[in-house]
Amino acid sequence: MTAHIINGKEINAAKREQIRKQTEELTAAGTRPGLVVVIVGEDPASQIYVNNKAKACEQVGIYSEVHRLPEHTTQAELVALIESFNRNPAVHGILVQSPLPKHINEEEVVDAIEPEKDVDCFHPVNVGNLMIGKPGMLPCTPAGVIEILKYAGVEIAGKHAVVVGRSNIVGKPMAMLLLREHATVTICHSRTPDLAAVTRQADIVVAAVGRAKFIRAEHVKPGAVVMDVGINRNEEGKVCGDVDFDAVKEVAGVITPVPGVVGPMTITMLLQNTVNAARRAANLAK
Ligand code: NDP
Repeated sequence: MTAHIINGKEINAAKREQIRKQTEELTAAGTRPGLVVVIVGEDPASQIYVNNKAKACEQVGIYSEVHRLPEHTTQAELVALIESFNRNPAVHGILVQSPLPKHINEEEVVDAIEPEKDVDCFHPVNVGNLMIGKPGMLPCTPAGVIEILKYAGVEIAGKHAVVVGRSNIVGKPMAMLLLREHATVTICHSRTPDLAAVTRQADIVVAAVGRAKFIRAEHVKPGAVVMDVGINRNEEGKVCGDVDFDAVKEVAGVITPVPGVVGPMTITMLLQNTVNAARRAANLAK
């Protein structure tokens, strides 16, 4: 039996329509959510990501500004710009597009962002809040995966979820969110011996490895749910995920194709974080 293939267009459109309505209400009440995106240098993939984020803001009515800085920008200049956004009440979200040029320390730049405006959820304060279950910013890609699972009607509580990858951006926060949803969670990484023996036990597999066709049919239990976070280029230069989609869809129960589901959902969650931050700012100002 072939897996149910998640329809990314449908789920993203539904979620963005909810966000558009929330934005409309907040704007009518006097607070238009605002996001600034900062990009340093000319990385072509980053330029595409930044343009997609700005376009998505426009779609739902969020005010957005893209600040394009030259490659030779100093860290002090970048931090000064961030501090000006921290002080600006019209800005509710600040996103600094990664990667930054080598002469800039990414960690120190993230630390300069006011945690209330850190819509990527990379600031240590927000990571800590996530860990102890305090409400606030959500890590965009992992939160998007949870949204997709819920939208698809996948039960998470009590299920065994295996996350392949332990990065600070995807793997670790993904595991925390699955735990928050009451899954039993296993995290695998490059030192995991016999990966397939672990992933074959999973009811839910989340692949965040960064290698094309890494998760194959033998990694997946029949009927399991497979969420593919990967964004890679195959031999022909086409975008593909971490999962060998054609083979795994014959084994899995539910699967996300790449591109089109987790990538756009990550942007959708960025919009949601911006709206939530604006709502919190408006409540504080009252
Ligand atoms: P990283 O390179 O930071 O992390 C990759 C993880 O995979 C590491 O934890 C690494 O283990 C693990 N890994 C590598 N090789 C193996 C192996 N042979 N067996 C088991 N685990 C292994 O990548 P990211 O987490 O940043 O991104 C992962 C993928 O997701 C990439 O394709 C990226 O492009 C994509 N991505 C997609 C997003 C979206 O919006 N859809 C957003 C962010 C990322 P170890 O720690 O031991 O090295």
